[in-house]
Amino acid sequence: MQILLKDGILLTEDHSPKKMDLFIDGNLISQISDKIRVEAEYVINCNNKIVSPGFVNMHTHVAMSNMRTLFDDMQFSRFLETGFKLDSVRTDEEVYYGSKLGIAEMLRKGTTTFLDMYYSENMVAKAVQELGIRAYLGWSIVNKNQTTQKGEPLKNAEQFISEFRGKDLITPLPAPHGIYSCDRDDLIAAKELADRYDLPYTIHLSENRREVYDIVKKEKKRPVEYLDGLGFLSNRLIASHTIYVTLNEIKILGKKGVTVVNNPVSNMKLANGNFVPALEMIQHGANFTLGTDSAATSNSLDMLENAKLSSLLQKNYREEGQILPPSQVIDFMTKNPWKVLGKNSGILKEGALADITVIGESISQIPLRKENAENILIYSSNGNDVEQTIVNGKLLYSQGNYYGLNIEELREKNKEIFNHYSSLMNS
Ligand SMILES: [Zn+2]
Repeated sequence: MQILLKDGILLTEDHSPKKMDLFIDGNLISQISDKIRVEAEYVINCNNKIVSPGFVNMHTHVAMSNMRTLFDDMQFSRFLETGFKLDSVRTDEEVYYGSKLGIAEMLRKGTTTFLDMYYSENMVAKAVQELGIRAYLGWSIVNKNQTTQKGEPLKNAEQFISEFRGKDLITPLPAPHGIYSCDRDDLIAAKELADRYDLPYTIHLSENRREVYDIVKKEKKRPVEYLDGLGFLSNRLIASHTIYVTLNEIKILGKKGVTVVNNPVSNMKLANGNFVPALEMIQHGANFTLGTDSAATSNSLDMLENAKLSSLLQKNYREEGQILPPSQVIDFMTKNPWKVLGKNSGILKEGALADITVIGESISQIPLRKENAENILIYSSNGNDVEQTIVNGKLLYSQGNYYGLNIEELREKNKEIFNHYSSLMNS
């Protein structure tokens, strides 16, 4: 596919946006220049629009998209309890349709890559392959005595990894669920699996006060110190939430080059309290990124919503209006994820993968200029302002149209599934 994006304001790596044309040939950005004159299959007029590297959602459970609103207004402990209970009765088909719905929403809102954690990731993979988004799929590893999976989680994860390794858009990986749902042997085995296949791996970490109390009581160590003692940390680890961390833990995360994922909407909705020490993490060398968490806890898979809140929360809590400006927040969801995911994406540069989001529509009411484009993206836009989403050089979403997907049929199917879950919750 050849796509020419004309006259857009391009968000550049050096954060000095420029009005340029961008030409995509195959799956790569082939040319960026003032005026490009080529024949292309698709020519998109991007005048008065922002052309951004595609957003990367670094933490979600996409299959839970058809469980939205079922867990509203619950404390975290009750969410975990009811969530696990409902997980235990889900069929592969329900996981597949939920994943498709979530992926469609992410494409609608400008996400070109996501990192997932769940069981039955082979079903998520099926949805990914049909819709064409880029995905890092983490098979959830939970202790044998706690799991709702059929079979042994560790063996399931390895089976999934060996089956899906080397696929074009999919990278399979191990996803130990958390220190409260995995024992020490599970954590060591999950890390060993990631090492053996040289893969990133992901975990929920220090999401809740209770998690910290319990491990301190049991191991006499805080979560990050406990994991460090097990040899679990490395620069391939992606740790989501990381709310309750001390300065010593931050220094360890930085020294090991761990990637952290901030999930402001989910954290607040589940009332997990406190706030993420973002500045200290960045200062000490952790790689800072953003994620939505699942639609069951954040109710929308909108990276722009999370991007705005990640900045505003820090400004407000610290009473420092100048911190975390849009230029820095844009890197959290475009450039930084690729430091651990390891592909040439997340920047608008010739030769990079063509994973691109075009934002327009409602922002055309505002005098968009090169100088304010980054601010308009982070402070004035949300996912509904996305007009086009391009993944691996393919136009997957454009102004209400999904290519190769009947969205109405998909919504109907998920409505049936949701009604079934609702009746289970009420019984
Ligand atoms: Zn999560």
